[in-house]
Amino acid sequence: MKNDAFAEVMAHARQTVALEQVMGRLGWDQETMMPRGAAEQRGEEMAALEGILHARRSDPRLAGLLDAAEAPDPAAAAQLREVARGHSRAVKVPGTLAQEIARVTSVAQGIWAQARAAEDVAAFLPTLAEVVRLKREEGAALAQGGDAYDALVDDYEPGMTGADIAAMFGAMRPRLVALRERILGSGRQPKPLDGSFSADSQMRLARDLAGAFGYDWSRGRLDMAVHPFSSGSGHDVRITTRVSEADPFNCFYSTIHEVGHAAYEQGVDPDYLLTPIGKGVSMGVHESQSRIYENQLGRSRAFTGWLHGQMRERFGEFGIASADDFFATVNRVQPGFIRTESDEVHYNLHIMMRFDLERALMRGDLQVADLQAAWNDRFKADFGVAVDRPSHGMLQDVHWSVGLFGYFPTYSLGNVYAGCLHKALRADQPGLDADLARGDLSAATGWLREKVQRHGALYEPRQVIAQAIGTQPSEVPLLEYLETKFGQIYGL
Ligand code: ZN
Repeated sequence: MKNDAFAEVMAHARQTVALEQVMGRLGWDQETMMPRGAAEQRGEEMAALEGILHARRSDPRLAGLLDAAEAPDPAAAAQLREVARGHSRAVKVPGTLAQEIARVTSVAQGIWAQARAAEDVAAFLPTLAEVVRLKREEGAALAQGGDAYDALVDDYEPGMTGADIAAMFGAMRPRLVALRERILGSGRQPKPLDGSFSADSQMRLARDLAGAFGYDWSRGRLDMAVHPFSSGSGHDVRITTRVSEADPFNCFYSTIHEVGHAAYEQGVDPDYLLTPIGKGVSMGVHESQSRIYENQLGRSRAFTGWLHGQMRERFGEFGIASADDFFATVNRVQPGFIRTESDEVHYNLHIMMRFDLERALMRGDLQVADLQAAWNDRFKADFGVAVDRPSHGMLQDVHWSVGLFGYFPTYSLGNVYAGCLHKALRADQPGLDADLARGDLSAATGWLREKVQRHGALYEPRQVIAQAIGTQPSEVPLLEYLETKFGQIYGL
């Protein structure tokens, strides 16, 4: 009887997971293919599907089945843990609220995009206020008297709280600020990339890079998006990128980043396909994969040496003759406005700012009407530059329009985990740089697949990293990596 209950939970979950994949593909379509005039209709379609998903997750039969079910092995226990987590969350949030959030955030995305293009904060504020109101309501329902922001963070990073994140940032901030000051005061600045790089050639190289980093093209595809992302799991994992003829690094490193996410989803043990553990376990662990692909591997001296050769072959001479200079150019540190284009030193400072602002918004300590001023003041204080237009300020990121409050800190957590994994990878693979210098990522990505990716959501987020590196994760390896790398580039 107990095994019957387990089988019934799994049969139920399999359909829910399949519908979640359909929902994800609707989101992918919305950002790649959908005609602009379809925005309102798509909002209604997504709200309808969310209603079905919510009803399935909160299905009263599940509570009894979960009580009766017995897991025959650790993977089955993890399956039950994931179903129970989804169920306990869903029963706390009224179905009408879940559907309203799906509808409003779907439409809000288009309104944000138009406001950003028009540099018009006022056009976005009423919508943002509505999203904030709904997410606060959801946070309060989930928290049941606890901290609403913590409850939202838990959605993306199970087990993590705002206080944990604040402590991590407290440890990172002084060393990052000190490093930034030394770099900017060094009197050195690598040459920026100059010239025009054909879009077609960029896309050909981007596809080759995706293949080199292990992207399985038979179970994926590459399209264009304003903000690159990856979507889907198992046998249908799609990536997106963008192209600017003046800035080929944007295309190459966005692609490599999304391949890191996609490799995680494609690399999960096929036995877990369309089950609750058949996906990345958290956004932080997800970001650790995209970040180690992009930065610790993709922006390393060894790999950029290979990339330099590829670019000279495909684009001809472009004014940077030596591989050492090219490495410095790829890793140029500059206080810029845009998070997604930020260097590794400034990146986490962007996140710290978003974290403080969104936590204040969710706690009611900051009102939407005051957000722009709060953003601009904080940016000036942290980066020493005044925001010159809204698309360089509070309108730059899509996250808040789609209700992703509590998501930003997982980017920094991903960087921290990537630092830990990189240290362990180097210790395990003394030949890593020789491989990277040949453009051969197979041993490195194979190690990540074995240590992290294949497990999907079998283990809790911190646990899978701790097992991979043989110790508890901490921010120290990331900080040491940054100080060493940028110390070398800037002669500190
Ligand atoms: Zn990412």
